[in-house]
Amino acid sequence: MKYETVIGLEVHVELATATKIFCGCENKFGGEPNTHCCPVCTGMPGVLPVLNEKVVEYAVKAGLAMNCKIANFSKMDRKGYYYPDLPKAYQISQYDLPICKDGYVDIEVGGNTRRVRITRIHMEEDAGKLLHDVGAGTAVDYNRCGVPLIEIVTEPDLRSAEEARVFLETLRSIMKYTGVSDCKMQEGSLRCDVNISVREAGSDKLGTRTEMKNLNSFSAVYRAIEAESARQIAELEEGNPIVQETRRFDDVKGKSYPMRDKEEAHDYRYFPDPDLVPITLTDERIEEIRASLPELPNAKKRRYVEELGLSEYDAGVLTAEKGIADFFEACLAEYNEPKKVCNLIMSDVLRLLNESGIEPDAVPVKPAQLAETLKLIDSGQVNTTVGKMVFEESFRTGENPADIVKRKGLAQISDTDQLRALLRNIIEANPGPVADYKGGKQKALTFFVGQVMKATKGQANPQIVNALAKEELDKA
Ligand code: ADP
Ligand code: MG
Ligand code: ZN
Repeated sequence: MKYETVIGLEVHVELATATKIFCGCENKFGGEPNTHCCPVCTGMPGVLPVLNEKVVEYAVKAGLAMNCKIANFSKMDRKGYYYPDLPKAYQISQYDLPICKDGYVDIEVGGNTRRVRITRIHMEEDAGKLLHDVGAGTAVDYNRCGVPLIEIVTEPDLRSAEEARVFLETLRSIMKYTGVSDCKMQEGSLRCDVNISVREAGSDKLGTRTEMKNLNSFSAVYRAIEAESARQIAELEEGNPIVQETRRFDDVKGKSYPMRDKEEAHDYRYFPDPDLVPITLTDERIEEIRASLPELPNAKKRRYVEELGLSEYDAGVLTAEKGIADFFEACLAEYNEPKKVCNLIMSDVLRLLNESGIEPDAVPVKPAQLAETLKLIDSGQVNTTVGKMVFEESFRTGENPADIVKRKGLAQISDTDQLRALLRNIIEANPGPVADYKGGKQKALTFFVGQVMKATKGQANPQIVNALAKEELDKA
């Protein structure tokens, strides 16, 4: 039998607000344990939470960027469960009236556009963290308690590990564009629960699903989906039923293990939080937030293709990271040659960032320096090879490209007399290749061009050398 994998994701994203969701404590990753907390976020009895308005604004921004309907009226609920890093023994979340619902995100996989529906987005608070390797026992750090989160729930619209990975990348890109989160996976700002089932290909009935919680890298999500879908298919092939349960994925072993039975909503005894007033948003306020959205990656990509004449591929790479798109546009403001700027970013900037482990939003070279490099090449002051070398040095040291050219004497040699003299010497010294050329071997020409480049340390103007080499060889 042929099977199809069905996946729905629940993604938790920490919001980049200055303060926590219900108190004035600093919302910042890390820090000495238990230094960013107060009676409210450590759940002392009798304290009163107050909802941070920025959290609402960011949740609405995220919702609008994902084409959701924004609720004019929503509320916060208590979700009851006990865990040592949740001192109140309930999490303040949203249950039946989430702030956003019914949206979608379009993703591109293998040249096709797929629409992934967003069921809902709700606001909630994060829990603290248990520290298991301190001395004899386990300690708890409440710094993360009350960090604002949005939870984004998709419909079961994804069909493969690759689609899930692309969806998460697209989501991260949107979050970073809107500025609602830095999405640093290594700091846990984006975490993902994966729900998976399999079914006979072509069937429209959903199979029984399992859930794997808190995967914190895209590659772990990918591997978890591959492993779990293979496990479910093997079970069905053996004639065993799939048990609806929560499983733990062990990324080292590449296998998942049963953890607990699936919990149901009624297990949590949700009820409206009596300490928090409902959230009301007028249409005007929602439109105001919509107007504050930046151009989003998909729209930007389309504009790069249609208005700047870039290829789909190039436009996709340039817009995936907001930092790169911003850098690209800043370069265009200095030198309006989209294709040339694009090429230098695609071939050199991305490689250099990668090699030096620098984040895309911290390109060390200035847009004016990239522009200067291209101007040096385009005006014939240096050839492309030297230009790229100079650019790399500028990237690493911050020195201006034109200064590097001057200091190192790298200016292109276009003096025909000088180049012709050089060629004549080389021709005289190499009768073999000359004979090859005369015998019809056009390729022998590149030998002479290469020799001139070598003799000038790569600084000769290649077009001029090429033309001169032909002339001189035909005369020889
Ligand atoms: P919860 O896990 O909190 O009980 P839901 O039932 O709403 O919540 O489902 C959560 C996620 O599981 C959603 O992303 C949904 O798309 C996905 N999901 C639901 N049923 C299936 C299924 N049969 N196969 C794969 N994913 C599913
Ligand atoms: Mg779930
Ligand atoms: Zn606090």
